[in-house]
This record gives sequence, structure tokens and C-alpha cells, in this order.
Amino acid sequence: MQVSENKVVSFHYTLKDDAGEVLDSSEGRDPLTYLHGAGNIIPGLEKALEGKDAGDHVEVSVAPEEAYGNRNDALVQSVPRSAFEGVDEILPGMQFQAQTPNGVQILTVVKVEDDTVVVDGNHPLAGKTLHFSVDITDIRDATAEELAHGHAH
Ligand code: ZN
Repeated sequence: MQVSENKVVSFHYTLKDDAGEVLDSSEGRDPLTYLHGAGNIIPGLEKALEGKDAGDHVEVSVAPEEAYGNRNDALVQSVPRSAFEGVDEILPGMQFQAQTPNGVQILTVVKVEDDTVVVDGNHPLAGKTLHFSVDITDIRDATAEELAHGHAH
């Protein structure tokens, strides 16, 4: 069986940046499982896995356009410290979820000043070329319920 539309695919992965630093990995965890063709994973990786078999090893570099997009400087904003009510200490690198008209957005604290906090609404991996090393562990047909939901169970 090959990776194609409406298959549920499981794989182990290691994700590195241009410098070779590991950003994320499934090592020591269950493999990542997704419904192929449903946009559950970034487009560049989904394309690279198309047609592969269980047991295949795949190395792929994905440009930002096919991953988390390019950085948008307009998403770096100063917000009043009072917006973080109930948070005792705010430090650079901390991440918060914010409800926006476009859904939940992750904000990363860049800088803390007296009364303001500079936050970056870009996805932490925006603007990065992502280097994936993937081992496909399992491929199966999706169930009717999974197809209806648009994700793997
Ligand atoms: Zn579901």
C-alpha cells in the first residue's frame, strides 16, 4: 500500500533547521499519524510522502512557502502589560495563545518593557526552511468516520 489520498499514514520524523539543529522529533513518542490529502500536515511534507511505502525513509527540505509561510513583520506588535492580567512574570520566549478573528494564534514574547510587551504573532517556524528526515511506519485505509472528520483517529 502506498501513501495516497484517503490513507492514514504514520511516521517517525526528525525536523532540523538550516543549521542542523533539531527543532522537533517524534523520537521516544508515538509516530505522528495523519490523514493524507486532508491538509493535516504542511503541504511540502504531504507532497514528499505521496506514493511512498511503509518502511520507506524520506529526506526532504521544505521551503517556507510550502511550510509555515514567510515571516510577516506586521505581526510583531507592542501590547500593554495589562493585557497579560494574571500572569506574574513575563519573559522573552514565553508563548501565549490569543483568540483572534482568524482563530487561535500563538504569540511569542520578544521583549518586555516597563508597560508594554512586544509579541510576535508569526508561527515559530515561519520563514524557516524545514529539513525533515522521515520513516514511514504504517499506511492503512481511512475509516468512513475519519474521512467524514477530515483527520485520523
Ligand atoms: Zn474526528
